[in-house]
Amino acid sequence: MAAQTPVPGCPRHKGMGFVYVCKSCEDELICMDCVTDRHNGHKMGKLTDYVADQKREIQQYVDKLSRTDIPKIKEDIREQETSGGGYQKVISDIKRQGKQMKDNIDNAIELLVKMCIELEKLNRSVSEKNKTALTQHLREDLEPKLDRCQQVLTSGTTVDVTTLAREIRNTSIDPPSPRRLQTVEFKPGTISIELLERMLGKVLVDGEDQSYKPIPTPVVLSEFTTSFPYRCMSVHVLLDDEAWLSYWTDESVYRVDLKGKCEGDDRSVRSKSDSISVSPDHGQGVVLCR
Ligand SMILES: [Zn+2]
Ligand SMILES: [Zn+2]
Repeated sequence: MAAQTPVPGCPRHKGMGFVYVCKSCEDELICMDCVTDRHNGHKMGKLTDYVADQKREIQQYVDKLSRTDIPKIKEDIREQETSGGGYQKVISDIKRQGKQMKDNIDNAIELLVKMCIELEKLNRSVSEKNKTALTQHLREDLEPKLDRCQQVLTSGTTVDVTTLAREIRNTSIDPPSPRRLQTVEFKPGTISIELLERMLGKVLVDGEDQSYKPIPTPVVLSEFTTSFPYRCMSVHVLLDDEAWLSYWTDESVYRVDLKGKCEGDDRSVRSKSDSISVSPDHGQGVVLCR
């Protein structure tokens, strides 16, 4: 084998440097003494060749990191910053759709109101004309006739009386017949929330229709301070508004009600659990400590 420059550091042979790698021993670095000692007869390789190979391998990894892995992660990070899941766009789309619906409703209201105003105008002009015709009939026909009758009755001659009576019998003045006025009423339609929701649209989460379910928030049933030492990670059993509490490794188990009133040591709970338990009745009860 060609001469090699030893690299200091053989732990087995003081002062000797590594020259080869032993192929038989998973590329272990060995010195000249190791060759004839523990690795006698083993397959050797030049340390320089081995190091060159290792450097090549590392370089390949460097290339992979800088060309592929790191740019991809950076791209992913950028995507996280910019996209944000598109919620803001969804919100503005919902608002735009809602605005469109409101505008349409406003237009429909305006149309009906406008129609009513125009009909009212028309009706008013009809009633004005009716009033004029009736007033004219009253002033020009009926009232003069009444005057004449009264005059004849008080101071008319016999001829006047008979003439007037004949006149009344033979002539009749028809009163003007007023044109009919329209009646108007509003018949409200049925307001359908379902229809409105259908018109507004849906929010699809991962392509699935998602109806609104409020995220449940815990409700504090009661808060109290215990008379005994008590911290998290103890027994928490909620049964009929009562909890069994105990302190860390303490053997005692305390039964408390919602006001924190202590029922004393209840030894019936033999095995303590470190987990927070859930009430079988309420399903949601959890004791929190602070
Ligand atoms: Zn050695
Ligand atoms: Zn060996």
